[in-house]
Parts: sequence; structure tokens; C-alpha cells
Amino acid sequence: MGEVDSTHEVHVDGALPLVNRGSEKTLGGRASGIGHADIGAAKFLNHGVNEIADSARISDIERLGEHFCFVPAANLFGDGVERFPVARADGQTAPFGSKGLGSGSPDPLAGGGNDGDAVSETGFHSRVIIMDKMGAARYIWIRDSLRPASEGVVPFVSAAVQYGFSVFEGIRCYSTDIGPAVFRMDEHVGRLLDSAHIVGFRDLPVTGEQVKTAINQTIAANEFSACYIRPMIYLDGAMSLTVEAGEPRFVVAVWEWKTFLGAEAKERGIRANIASFTRLHPNIMMTKAKVSGNYVSSILAKTESQRAGFDEAIMLGPDGYVAECTGENLFIVRNNIVYTTPRAGILEGITRDTLITLARDLGYSVVEEPISRDQLYIADEVFVCGTAAEVIGLREIDFRVIGDGKAGPVTRALQQDFDKLVSHRHARSAEWLTPVPALDAAAVRS
Ligand code: PMP
Repeated sequence: MGEVDSTHEVHVDGALPLVNRGSEKTLGGRASGIGHADIGAAKFLNHGVNEIADSARISDIERLGEHFCFVPAANLFGDGVERFPVARADGQTAPFGSKGLGSGSPDPLAGGGNDGDAVSETGFHSRVIIMDKMGAARYIWIRDSLRPASEGVVPFVSAAVQYGFSVFEGIRCYSTDIGPAVFRMDEHVGRLLDSAHIVGFRDLPVTGEQVKTAINQTIAANEFSACYIRPMIYLDGAMSLTVEAGEPRFVVAVWEWKTFLGAEAKERGIRANIASFTRLHPNIMMTKAKVSGNYVSSILAKTESQRAGFDEAIMLGPDGYVAECTGENLFIVRNNIVYTTPRAGILEGITRDTLITLARDLGYSVVEEPISRDQLYIADEVFVCGTAAEVIGLREIDFRVIGDGKAGPVTRALQQDFDKLVSHRHARSAEWLTPVPALDAAAVRS
């Protein structure tokens, strides 16, 4: 196999060449040790695993017939030196040596770096990680028990893969002084079951209590202190296009996913555009359900947005008013009143509900009413929120500066309260954080 490019053959599965010193770097060209793979705009940071902004991935290289070699690397999370697999896309063994990524020189680490900076002075990458398909998780929950993450695969012939017929949740577990704690577990599990109900599943393989147990056990088994949680009910089989033709299956995956929109986003705010794609009409695809297929619309809009140089897309509904972003709900602030969109045409975000409560606690009036595109432009503040993104200000929309061009005071106050809330330092924390119990050996089936 010759050169491999990022668009179709090489995916970096959270592969993070972590940096010892220096700040966030962009891997604009090739990663050393990743052979001739162009992994585009993947970012890697010096302080975390899995903080790739664009989620470029190097999975499936083996499947594509590529070779792996192992690089000795300092293990940041344990003692001593470990060996991590590094893919080489051209079938050669990737050489490793003294300089970091992007040296661009014929040094032993050269894989075609691009920016001339040595990023590690320790003699080798501080750590190069190629994570498996489910991120760094070692275990996944399948049906009624924990299994090795490698078993987390779905058959090609299933309505889930073929037609996007699955419903899911995105939940976060936070590291707190009472240990790992899941944020608003009841509401997320309730929404998962609502989604299943909306798309017409009848006999579900799990109850709400079983979903909670599965979530807790999957976090505990993977020993994450903080992570993102993805329970899913998918339709297996069903090639004849009815729900009855298939079987609903239940899985829970977890992974470490620290910042979704990038570390800087929270401080500076992000830039958004109005998508050229309209958000779903509920008589086309129902927006109250987190249906996998709905996210094709999100991917279209966000890809368009990022290719045009923005960070996120704002989607207008079929009525022409603001609906939501690709994975976030939207708020504006004008003259100290907080507005958000009506719930009929959006996913009723749990972060949205949280922020409405926090804003009212802070004494703000919160009004749910239609918001037009030009109301965004003249707002004092605009912010978006979601489980993955948390609370992020928009500093610019369609090339128009919003307010002071940075996260405004209401946004900042809500960000601070939200951070307190999820780290168990807020009066409402006890109500909304559920500590993860210890692993129950019975959940692990050999
Ligand atoms: N809208 C859409 C389309 C989403 O995917 C999400 C993320 N789940 C949200 C809004 C925000 O919802 P939540 O705060 O519950 O994560």
C-alpha cells in the first residue's frame, strides 16, 4: 500500500503523541511514526489523553493491511517505560529516536513532520497512544455484562449500521471529592428510554434501573475518574424496514473526552455560522429522540461550518427561526434577560435545563421564545451548551462580532456555576450528581 491520506484510510483513534513541554500543537501534516499518513488538523495537547480537537483517528490500520511497530515510551500514567503501537502506513517499520513530532528533519523520528519544532526533549515521544475503537476503554457493556472493548462491534447487516436506526445518550461522569459521579443520570436514562419509545421500540432489553447499573459498572470497570458515557439501544437485523423485523440490543461505551470544542473555546468563545442545512422538521425526523440517523444532519452542518473556517454551525428550523447547533442548544442574553429557543423543534437538552435553573438561581429571567437570525447578531451574549461542549460563548456569528467579542458576564457566571455544580461544589450538586459505586464482580462475565 502506498501513501495513505486521512480522508479515507487512516484514522487516528485518539492517537495522541503527547507533548512534554510546550502548549497545544497542531499536527498539520504527518505524525512522526505514523508513516505517510496525513492526519490533517488533529490537535494534541500536553496535558491529557484524547484531546484531539478534530477527532482524527488511526484505527483500522491493521484492517487495512498496515503494519504496526512498537515504540518504547515513557508512561505518563504509571511507572517506567511502556511500548505503544505506532502505525506505519507504507509497510515500513517506523523508526524512532530523539526528536519529537514535526521535526521535518531526517531525524530518527521522522515521519514527515511539518512544523520544525521538537516537541519532546526526553529522547522519545512522551507517549504515543493508538487507542482501540472505543477510545481508551478496556471494557464495554453488552446486553447484560461487561465484555472486553474489542467485542464492541455490530454486525454489518443491521438496521443500526445500514439505516442509522439506534438511539443513544451522551452523559458525563465527573471527577469529584466524592469520587467519580455521573451528572443527571436519571434525566439521561429517562431520555434514552423516551428516544426508544419515540422511534417505536416496544420490548426493550433493559429497564431504566438496568441502564443505570450498566453505566456505573462500565465506568467502574474502566477505572475512569471522569469520562463520557454512551449508552445505546440499536436495532439488529431489520433489513425489511420495520422495527419488528429486528432485535433491540443494548450497549454502553465509555471514553475519556475532556474538551469537545477545544481547550481555548471556553476562554475565548468560538466562531459560528448559520448552516445552509435546515434542522429537522419533527414530521421528517423527530428531534426529541437522540436517533443516530439524525446526526447525519449535524455532520453535514458541522463539516460545512468547519470547512468554511468556523468552529460550530447554528441550524435554523423549518420555520426559519433558530433551532439549535449540531450537538448543543442555544441561548442569547439581551438587556440582562436570558432567552432560549422553544422546545418543540429541538432536542430538549439536559444542560439547557440545568442552565435555565442556574440562571434563575442567579436572578435572571429566562424566556423561551423564537429567536431569529438577526436577534443573534444584536445580542449582548450568545452561548451554547450540551453535555459534550458544556457551556461555550460565541464570540462571532457569520463574521459579525457578538457583544464584546468574548464570553460575556452572564456566560462566564453560568460557566463558573456549571463547573462548581459538576465538581460537587454547588448547592445543587447533591441533587444532580450520582456517585459511581464500586465494581460488582458479578457484572464481569468471563
Ligand atoms: N441538541 C442536540 C442536537 C444534541 O445532540 C445535544 C447533545 N445531546 C444537545 C442539543 C444538548 O443536549 P444535552 O445538554 O442533553 O447534552
